[in-house]
Amino acid sequence: MRAMVLDKPKRRLELRDVPKPRPGRGQLLVRISACAVCRTDLHVLDGELPDPKLPLILGHQIVGRVEEIGEEANSKFHIGDRVGIPWLGWTDGECAYCRSNRENLCDRARFTGYTIDGGYAEFTVADTRFCFYLPDRYNDVEVAPLLCAGLIGYRSYRKTGDARRLGIYGFGNAAHLIAQIALYEKRDLFVFTRPGDVATQQAAKELGALWAGGSDEMPPEKLDAAIIFASVGPLVPMALRALAKGGIVVCGGIHMSDIPSFPYADLWEERIITSVANLTRRDGEEFFELAPRVPVQTKTETFHLEQANTALDRFRAGELKGTAVLTIAE
Ligand SMILES: [Zn+2]
Ligand SMILES: [Zn+2]
Repeated sequence: MRAMVLDKPKRRLELRDVPKPRPGRGQLLVRISACAVCRTDLHVLDGELPDPKLPLILGHQIVGRVEEIGEEANSKFHIGDRVGIPWLGWTDGECAYCRSNRENLCDRARFTGYTIDGGYAEFTVADTRFCFYLPDRYNDVEVAPLLCAGLIGYRSYRKTGDARRLGIYGFGNAAHLIAQIALYEKRDLFVFTRPGDVATQQAAKELGALWAGGSDEMPPEKLDAAIIFASVGPLVPMALRALAKGGIVVCGGIHMSDIPSFPYADLWEERIITSVANLTRRDGEEFFELAPRVPVQTKTETFHLEQANTALDRFRAGELKGTAVLTIAE
């Protein structure tokens, strides 16, 4: 099969003919039709995440159809079914985290497109238990970005509880999806962009944000919660300063630059800073139930599998108009 392979961080991906994987016990062999590109792919590529599997096939927002079912796979899926394969690819099911409904923190978790091969390829194998059915209202390209930007965004959003005044720092793919859910749930939305990025601020207002401005500005009201999707550490004390008493800052990314020091008075009065790591299957089930009701709309730009390097370059340069989705022709 054809795959875009990463031999080492900081190298270009190479189009290569590699052996088609065989589904092991409890696994599905999936013929991939689309795989969305995530910022985490850039972090892996840049060597910002430790110990990736090498050589590696990137990609963890995979949409495809079941081609073969391995031994002892449960009967949840049938040949030909459409499935979504997310970042969380495997957990041991027995560590203290797994046994307390926190499989996202599993000590031995494996991650798609990072510690196991992902979706920049014609086929992949995936553990049946971690695959999702996807809502019918979306086609393969539309639904792909929901598998990470949507899901991890949703987990970040849930951490804000029932915050009425919600700030979002960094208005990229995840923010755009989560903003739609926040507005559907009647939250007051405040969007922070790079200072001077008037176009994005305008887009946020058109979507329904009550206010949009630069990340160096204070919102017109104190916030009950803020989610930071940009991988910029100095935003953490900025967001903290924008919070009302008892507010929470949720860092939604897997990698962030260092956070500068700040006065304790900014944290005082039960303000909270937390991060979101990975996802649980329950997040996925909830999100895929909710997304079509909103309905959450994705913006995408498609590339052929062979153009993965171009898609990544354009993502890095901020030149994309939507989430890049690689399409894989039969
Ligand atoms: Zn575990
Ligand atoms: Zn991702």
